[in-house]
Amino acid sequence: MIIEFNELLKRKSYAKDIDLSFNMKSFLYQGDEIIFKSPVKAKGKASIQEDIIHFDVQVSFVIELTCTRCLDRYTSNFDINIFEEYTNNPKKESEDIIFITEDSIDMEEVIKNNILLSLPIKKLCSNDCKGLCQHCGANLNKSQCNCSQDDIDIRMAKLKDLFLSD
Ligand SMILES: [Zn+2]
Ligand SMILES: [Zn+2]
Repeated sequence: MIIEFNELLKRKSYAKDIDLSFNMKSFLYQGDEIIFKSPVKAKGKASIQEDIIHFDVQVSFVIELTCTRCLDRYTSNFDINIFEEYTNNPKKESEDIIFITEDSIDMEEVIKNNILLSLPIKKLCSNDCKGLCQHCGANLNKSQCNCSQDDIDIRMAKLKDLFLSD
């Protein structure tokens, strides 16, 4: 989804309303496929002042990704505010103001970057995700496995015996 800044940069207008709904392709992030489960809705405004375009848009969508603890797929609702500043005047470029050589931006790139920025390091299906059993690999959110703590202690004790008798 390309957003044109043409009119703003030529000062044919000073503000542009943004009200879009579009589909986005899934993408890979650290080996995990991030799939869009809803169209992306973007609503806001782009305006220009002293060669700087202020791009202020509220974006909402649903993505599906993998829980790092139980490896199950889960969905996450995003409702984020994207605020960026762009300029095509090299003198105005700074750490916060992005220099653009074309008179448009690719909204999908902007959204991807914002998703990556807002994803936690540990993506969890829920805060109290119980994860997988270290022994049998069962998903402990769905079922309780038979590896009780006692069994594990007994096995550890046996292992210890083995090492000690060596
Ligand atoms: Zn999980
Ligand atoms: Zn188990």
